[in-house]
Amino acid sequence: MNRRSVRFRLTVWYASLLAGLLILYGASVYLGLGSYLRWMLEESLSRQARQIGETLLANLDRSGEEYVIEEIKEHYAPEINGRFLRVTRADGSVLYVSGRPEDKSFDPALLSIPAEPVEGAYAREEHLSDGSELLIYTLPFTTVEGSRFLIEAGAPYGQIEGALRGLLLTLIVVLPVLVAAAIGGGYFLMARALTPLDKIARSAELITSRNLNERLPVVHTGDELERLSISLNRMIARLDKAFEHISRFSADASHELRTPLTVLRGELEAAVQQPNLSPQLRDTIGSALEEVDRLTKIVESLLTISRLDAGEAAMERTRVDIAELAAVTAEQMRLLAEDKNISLRCDLAGEAEVEGDRARLKQVVVNLLDNAIKYTPEGGAVQVRVSTGDGRAVLEVIDNGIGIPAESLPHIFERFYRADKARSRQMGGAGLGLSIVNSICAAHGARLDARSAERQGSRFRVEFPLADGVPEKKG
Ligand code: ADP
Repeated sequence: MNRRSVRFRLTVWYASLLAGLLILYGASVYLGLGSYLRWMLEESLSRQARQIGETLLANLDRSGEEYVIEEIKEHYAPEINGRFLRVTRADGSVLYVSGRPEDKSFDPALLSIPAEPVEGAYAREEHLSDGSELLIYTLPFTTVEGSRFLIEAGAPYGQIEGALRGLLLTLIVVLPVLVAAAIGGGYFLMARALTPLDKIARSAELITSRNLNERLPVVHTGDELERLSISLNRMIARLDKAFEHISRFSADASHELRTPLTVLRGELEAAVQQPNLSPQLRDTIGSALEEVDRLTKIVESLLTISRLDAGEAAMERTRVDIAELAAVTAEQMRLLAEDKNISLRCDLAGEAEVEGDRARLKQVVVNLLDNAIKYTPEGGAVQVRVSTGDGRAVLEVIDNGIGIPAESLPHIFERFYRADKARSRQMGGAGLGLSIVNSICAAHGARLDARSAERQGSRFRVEFPLADGVPEKKG
């Protein structure tokens, strides 16, 4: 689980807040119920004490003490009801005291008599030495005749404690379950709420410099998510414009360089024709001509790449048999291989028609084969393979040459990148051949990848979608 994720942090915040609120709620219910039950018990005890005073003790002089004692036993039956009742005379002698309750929850003999004088009614809690706890309501009562009594009515606290313990237990069991359910539910709901973001991120991953005209899905939530998707789309639009500017600039710059280069070439060619040139000057002009040639090639390549990347290059869209194209091209380049005593083999598995521009596709084969021959030492082997399957045509150019170092492999399709600069320049390379292949493949919806091991060889693989229903054109 990712602890830094918004999903995790929000769930933790929300769960902690909920747990805090539930604990606060539980504590107030617990304390509220505790004081309510105590108040109820106190009310019932005070009612009992008042009844004993007003209905029995008030008539004591007429009915006699025995009658009062019998009435208390009969009406209140404290032993059966688990209550404590005591009536004390003003001199401290006991008129009546209840016995031990049937459940033996407390012993009345352990209860001390409050010291006189008791001014008003009050409730107290008594902790007995047998471990029991009693709530006792004490009521001073004076008859019309002036006899003073102390009426005490009590009940064990245990019942209230039992109820509170039950509530506490319920809270301890239910609260964690509620919090766990909230965490689970919150985590799940957060995942759902973040799905649009995931969608935006996945679409953003697919946007590269080649499809900057595409846009991210806009989520209509009217909140930060919607603002984010709109802002990202605006950013992509700005990038699209900037990229277009850059591509157009490279294309324009390359185009502008062509004319002066042609002029320069013409003038150098004319100069080298002069009759009385010293051999040194002739050599200098010769090598300047070579450099102009190199420069012209680079400018042409740059122009091709810029136009392809900007989608400006006029591309024919016809059916091209890539197998036949590979065979023809390999045949045309055979001399180059033979010069280096390299065996050039073609493995073609029948027709493999793709949709595209024949001249550009030929350039792919030429550039790949040219590299394979260039970077394979004398006596090596180069193989061109074309196969079909799964709706795709696969062109492979394999050699057993010098290979490409692992750290260079990810960069070989970049402009002007050369794994071994000295060697590549010596061979006339400027690091643009594979960039052209890459741009052509991208324009044809083909997938290009390279595998290589140093001193063992390289394999370039282009995967084209097979054509259907496009007119065939040969050339
Ligand atoms: P270059 O004009 O320098 O050949 P490319 O763009 O065609 O430029 O290739 C880029 C680099 O990739 C080359 O400089 C070379 O180091 C490496 N490379 C390309 N093809 C091969 C191959 N078949 N074997 C070994 N290295 C290769």
